[in-house]
Amino acid sequence: MGYIADRIRYYKSTIPTDVELVAVSKFHPNESILEAYEAGQRAFGESRANELVAKATSLPDDIKWHFIGHLQTNKVRQILPYVSLIHSVDSERLLRMVDAESKRINRVTDVLLQLHVAQEETKFGFTPDELIQLSDMGIFNELQNVNIIGVMGMASNTDDTARIIEDFNSIKNAFDRLATGIMVGNESFKVISMGMSGDYLDAIECGSTMVRIGSDIFGERNY
Ligand SMILES: *Cc1c(COP(=O)(O)O)cnc(C)c1O
Repeated sequence: MGYIADRIRYYKSTIPTDVELVAVSKFHPNESILEAYEAGQRAFGESRANELVAKATSLPDDIKWHFIGHLQTNKVRQILPYVSLIHSVDSERLLRMVDAESKRINRVTDVLLQLHVAQEETKFGFTPDELIQLSDMGIFNELQNVNIIGVMGMASNTDDTARIIEDFNSIKNAFDRLATGIMVGNESFKVISMGMSGDYLDAIECGSTMVRIGSDIFGERNY
């Protein structure tokens, strides 16, 4: 029994049943993914379009591929036939592109809105106020081929647990504000994707429903 299979079993037996595990396989080879697959894992996360397509076309068809990295609009067409959930929709332009390309191939694509929480260093993501503005402009009503099923966020990259918890609480509060505001009536708006190898326990405490675990399952990445 291999290390990766052990880690999958560990996560499946310890995280709450209403929290979904996404095994982040970016930069890891097909054989590692297959070991996790044989242990029962079906949801895998990738952060680069080319890599997702290469893996999706050579690995079992019942794998659910999650796109978790920054997505350029010109890569949307490439990944759409293979992707099950895009976590990282971070601009109106990208949202419209996913909608248009989904329409073109006659599918509806599940997406998460990436949130930018106050103290986080990355420049990607919406603030809750930006989303409310988009909603006021009627943008969400115009989108027919995207299904917004929740939010994704990242905590600051720091050892300061208090700050990490503050960030997760900001993401959860923003989700609640959207769920009771502009997303009212959207029954599928349920997912809070937050938590990675180093901070997933705090994320679950703060309300995460989907954790994205890479290095703690597959080992360190060689970029
Ligand atoms: C790489 C990555 C992860 C996984 O990070 P680990 O620390 O290896 O668990 C999670 N989320 C996103 C957005 C990532 O890019």
